[in-house]
Amino acid sequence: MSYPQGSVNRRTLLLAAAAGGGVLTAGPASAHARPAPHRPAHARPGPDRPAHAGPIRPERPAVRSVGCFEVLALRDAAGPFFLPYDEAFSGASSNDWAAARRIDPAAFGPDRTWQLDFRCYAIRRPGDRYTLVDTGVGPQGSPASAWAPVPGVLPQLLAGNGIDVRRVDTVVLTHLHEDHAGWAVTAQGVPMFPNARYVMQQRELDALEADGSEMIGYVVRPLREAGRLHPVDGTVVLSGDTVGAGPRTPAGRHGDRIRVVPTPGHTPGHQSVLVEGGRHDQVVVTGDVLVHAVQIADPDVGYRYEADQHLARLTRRNLLDSARRERAVLATAHLNRPFVELR
Ligand SMILES: [Zn+2]
Repeated sequence: MSYPQGSVNRRTLLLAAAAGGGVLTAGPASAHARPAPHRPAHARPGPDRPAHAGPIRPERPAVRSVGCFEVLALRDAAGPFFLPYDEAFSGASSNDWAAARRIDPAAFGPDRTWQLDFRCYAIRRPGDRYTLVDTGVGPQGSPASAWAPVPGVLPQLLAGNGIDVRRVDTVVLTHLHEDHAGWAVTAQGVPMFPNARYVMQQRELDALEADGSEMIGYVVRPLREAGRLHPVDGTVVLSGDTVGAGPRTPAGRHGDRIRVVPTPGHTPGHQSVLVEGGRHDQVVVTGDVLVHAVQIADPDVGYRYEADQHLARLTRRNLLDSARRERAVLATAHLNRPFVELR
């Protein structure tokens, strides 16, 4: 997803929240190279816009086993997008839409609304350790408040599923849009996961700095000051073959591991997570390489707020081709199904 950029800082955000508004009124200030970001005013529910859904009831997470890992889908929030789907994806044909409806029928609300989930994934590793991928929309007053349904319910979901935040030793942020990093830090600006390294691509950090993004102040600086920021460059194995692979991994196959791989386009330093249990046993946590089923139906369909649409298309094609070859399961942030098997 993309987001309205503004000059708001944590203090402004919290003041706005304290004033009773979940919806921010601070206007965008910084200039951007990417297509004009949407304005908070567009995100505000009005008579011609569907109201944001409020906090959702935490649901039992769907779970997939991969090798020695379990991937839990954690839905932080859900609601309608502020643009009709055919404006968010203006290049899609009627055939594309028909195919998308078959893949994710719940994405199609009344009056051309795009209904979407905001999902994180927790990967349970041997020894009851966790890798968390993305941290959702965050609390009331978080940067995502300008357009996404807040507050999210991630803390309740974690607690309800016995996931102690102190046992999360790795947080992967696929990218630094605010609907993916909302719970990375608390409202007081301290890391929500006190023992975790927060893994993001250096390239993403560089792009945010160049943009003057509010996410620097909200997320990056607090993590850096707490010594929790873990920038990486390119493909990196986060949990390797030593984790539980053991003798069950047949010779010649790669073992159980978790990797981040660069998947740029949606943002310059976007990354995805491969959870691998051997050949044809893989979950790909895509992040926003694709944000709607219409981009599975036709990977050439661009999303209005991709930073580099050409690169995003290439990345999407590569990821989907690879996933088909590996018979991988997709774990997406915004489809209404936590896991999607490709045909
Ligand atoms: Zn998103």
